[in-house]
Amino acid sequence: MTKKEETPEQRERRLARGKNYYRTHLEQCRERNKKSYAANKEKRAEYKKKYNAEHESQIKAKSKRYHDANVEKLKKKSSDYYAKHKIQAKLKNQQYRIDHQDKILQHQLEIKIGVLAHYGNGKCACVKCGFDNVKALSIDHINGGGNDHRRKDNISGGLEFYRWLIRNNYPKEYQTLCMNCQYIKKVDNREIARGEQILKERLTRKPLP
Ligand SMILES: [Zn+2]
Repeated sequence: MTKKEETPEQRERRLARGKNYYRTHLEQCRERNKKSYAANKEKRAEYKKKYNAEHESQIKAKSKRYHDANVEKLKKKSSDYYAKHKIQAKLKNQQYRIDHQDKILQHQLEIKIGVLAHYGNGKCACVKCGFDNVKALSIDHINGGGNDHRRKDNISGGLEFYRWLIRNNYPKEYQTLCMNCQYIKKVDNREIARGEQILKERLTRKPLP
């Protein structure tokens, strides 16, 4: 008799028999499952890989749907997990940084170069003189007072600032300058007027009687 011809009562009886068999042969069943799992591990991994590659867009869309519908829940889960495993997470993070330091430095350099090139009009170089050694290039606030701006927005310097520029869709008021041009600009703009003032006072100070 094929399954199609089974009556509902027969089906119920068959399932009950199966359940009963599973209950009385629990250990054997588990053992068999384990063996089958181990024997087909590679085959299953290969199938999964193929399936994932063939259904990439559907999988991504499903994952995104789930994420969007559960943002708050996921955030809470993640922060709860972090609070519970703070020390382990820190150690893991530290170890990751040690193991992948070259990769991390390379990634940070790529971020820096990308931002400098954006503000260098497509070239990782000073917009005033064309100097292009990334080690002596930085982002300059066109109207001056870049440090005050950063302090006001609570952004630390270095990479954090580069990331902030990307996150904020590259605000217009910046440019790439080399250290020389930055310094010259500062002098020209009298941004170090106070230093000059002190110098002037010192030079014109009357000698003590
Ligand atoms: Zn320059």
